[in-house]
Amino acid sequence: MREPIGPVGVITPWNTPFMLSTWKIAPALAAGCTVVHKPAEWSPLTALLLAEIGNEAGLPDGVLNTVQGLGEEAGKALTEHPDIKAIGFVGESATGSRIMAQGAATLKRVHFELGGKNPVIVFADADLDRALDAVVFMIYSLNGERCTSSSRLLVERGIYDAFVARVAERVKRLKVGHPLDPATEVGPLIHPRHYEKVMSYMGVAQKDGATIAAGGGRAPGAEKGNFVAPTLFTGARSAMRISQEEIFGPCLTAIPFADEAEALAIANDIRYGLTGYVWTRDVGRAHRLALGLEAGMIWVNSENVRHLPTPFGGMKASGIGRDGGDYSFDFYMETKNVCVALDRHRIPVLGGAPKH
Ligand code: NAD
Repeated sequence: MREPIGPVGVITPWNTPFMLSTWKIAPALAAGCTVVHKPAEWSPLTALLLAEIGNEAGLPDGVLNTVQGLGEEAGKALTEHPDIKAIGFVGESATGSRIMAQGAATLKRVHFELGGKNPVIVFADADLDRALDAVVFMIYSLNGERCTSSSRLLVERGIYDAFVARVAERVKRLKVGHPLDPATEVGPLIHPRHYEKVMSYMGVAQKDGATIAAGGGRAPGAEKGNFVAPTLFTGARSAMRISQEEIFGPCLTAIPFADEAEALAIANDIRYGLTGYVWTRDVGRAHRLALGLEAGMIWVNSENVRHLPTPFGGMKASGIGRDGGDYSFDFYMETKNVCVALDRHRIPVLGGAPKH
């Protein structure tokens, strides 16, 4: 039998806050759990809207509860509360570690969707026009504030210069502007603190010896606001910080590779393991890479297209557990094994032997 695990805590980040919250809350409710949702400090309004929509839709009082507050206070209290049976968390890897420690005393079940620094691997035999569209879309849409963004571009050496030049040309043409203008392709980052973090990587890239082939600073013409110019780092090596750390902004790091083995080695040379994207017309190679890549989700000749019942989640420092369809029910429910005797089977008899 399956039964709801009990009241669960859902802790979400500020990026795509409405979508990510519903991805957790809807399956929890469908499983029969009540939910306490702690949204991110920087994105309180959509969570409020979701609670209002739930109310309007007739959710009984107490089924979906929204608690605004700081992670270290409200979030921490939720993870430590004995009546909360499980925590569905989306956010940074370091926060995931803290939540695991906080929940240890009450033996919390946890599902973690954490950071990513995902490779997109482009081989010379790929449909390079489609690969180009996907590469640009998967890092610059949503301003790069996306856990599944392909923030490391690995290109086969023979086509590296030409392909990367085409990427640079596109990046320079991206339209940065007001997020409510339908023509805008890249908007402002969420918060001045995040803007400062992303901007700090421009100096890091230069210090490490990479080339800034596009962008590299404040978006031209934007006097105020958190507008970062879409940026492309080229000539990078895997050991550089711009290849290893999640920048979470409109910044792409391009690295050349010699062959399939080196592509795989670079792709896996990272603490994260959320997604991988492979562009090739060689079906055997696509399968070999899908097997070899240390990532929870692989797309071949495609950008991230999500089919909701498929398992969503990461390996290594990118997460624990999977979401989506039955995977969500596994997390939000207990599985109970019930055995009922259908007949009079033989029960071993202990202590029944006659005395001599
Ligand atoms: P964050 O870890 O700083 O915060 C996420 C949430 O955790 C917030 O609600 C915050 O208040 C709360 N929190 C912070 N400290 C806490 C504590 N000690 N106890 C309990 N709760 C606490 O992350 P962020 O900056 O809001 O979001 C960006 C991060 O989220 C990136 O690393 C990104 O990759 C990741 N992310 C991952 C996925 C995924 O599916 N793997 C999806 C989206 C975002």
